[in-house]
Amino acid sequence: MAMYIVLLGPPGAGKGTQAQVIAKEFGLMHISSGDLFRENLKNMTELGKLAQGYMNRGELVPDDVTIAMVKDRITRPDCAQGVLLDGFPRTPAQADALAKMLGELGQKVTSVPYISVPADVLIERLSGRWTCPTCGSVYHEKYNPPKVAGKCDREGSELIQRDDDKPATVERRIRVYMEQTAPLIKYYQDRGLLVEVDGRQSIESVSQHMLAALRKD
Ligand code: ADP
Ligand code: AMP
Repeated sequence: MAMYIVLLGPPGAGKGTQAQVIAKEFGLMHISSGDLFRENLKNMTELGKLAQGYMNRGELVPDDVTIAMVKDRITRPDCAQGVLLDGFPRTPAQADALAKMLGELGQKVTSVPYISVPADVLIERLSGRWTCPTCGSVYHEKYNPPKVAGKCDREGSELIQRDDDKPATVERRIRVYMEQTAPLIKYYQDRGLLVEVDGRQSIESVSQHMLAALRKD
């Protein structure tokens, strides 16, 4: 049975950071719905243009388009060995749709690590986040700085800050998470899939706890 892992947690909890470690360890395809939207935006596709306004306001893109985009991606052959989902699902309707699309593939969600981090820590993490536009590596100016300031360790590319990491948008994104995504904690708890990891620890410690929990499954 392939692993289908859902990484849950507020914006800035460390999902993207941990996804890189976990995907490598278990040979999974890392699929981030936020990255898929940003790629569409960069290529100015119809989907990208539709998503842009929601993303800039820190709101969720409507369920129907988000679900269709993720379905198109996870039904491709390169996902057959298993997937690590980061940023999807974000609403109970998306979670139901995920269960249905995996069911059609004869699969199901196997584990849901939930990275818990309080709101004041999230704001500091997001305001110091820098990302590589080439490979998606995530850095933090204080907690995970690149070897050479402003440059990706792997690619040497100039690091960028996301438009939606501005303080006003961050606050909105955290509110949206509390209202629309946090109900998924109970959703997956009720299904016996949730594993909570304290996300206030160092990046390495969080990785160790997550890997230990996933190896037990
Ligand atoms: P998410 O994908 O959940 O939005 P990221 O993985 O992009 O979160 O992490 C947000 C920011 O916090 C990044 O700048 C990252 O380097 C930093 N970060 C991630 N995990 C930790 C941690 N355990 N301690 C300190 N900073 C962290
Ligand atoms: P992220 O990279 O996960 O922080 O997502 C960035 C933005 O993309 C979010 O603030 C939303 O506007 C949009 N987005 C990403 N994933 C989803 C999703 N599953 N449902 C709705 N909107 C999403």
